[in-house]
Amino acid sequence: MNGCPFCDIAEPVLVRNQHALAISDKNPISPGHSLIVPTVHVQSIFALPLERYQGCFELLRTLKERLEESHSPAGFNVVVNGGKAAGQTVDHAHIHLVPRYPDNPCIIH
Ligand code: AMP
Ligand code: ZN
Repeated sequence: MNGCPFCDIAEPVLVRNQHALAISDKNPISPGHSLIVPTVHVQSIFALPLERYQGCFELLRTLKERLEESHSPAGFNVVVNGGKAAGQTVDHAHIHLVPRYPDNPCIIH
C-alpha cells in the first residue's frame, strides 16, 4: 500500500490485459466515462516501456468496443492529463475514455 488509488483499486475491473486494467471513473463526466490504468506505478504514460504503452492502447480499443455495445455513444474523447499543469490529479498514469452523446457534447476544442 503506497496510498495510490490506482495501485490499490477497489472498483470492479471492467476489462484487463497483462499490461493494464480499466475501471469506471468515480466522478464520470458522461455515462460510461472510464480509465485505462497500467498495472505499474509510473506518473506518466510516456514513461512506460513501449510494450506496456502499446498494451494500454490495445486495451483502450477493447474498452471502446465494449462501451459502444453497452452505451451506444455518438463519439469518444481520449484524454491524458499529463502533469499538474495539465490537470493531472492522480499521479499514476491513466488514459480517460469519455463517451459522448448528442446532449453531452465535447468540451475540448
Ligand atoms: P486526472 O485529473 O487525469 O488525474 O484524473 C483522475 C481521475 O481519476 C478523475 O476523473 C477522478 O474522478 C478519478 N478517480 C480518482 N480516484 C479514483 C478511484 N479510486 N476510482 C475511480 N476513479 C478515480
Ligand atoms: Zn499507483
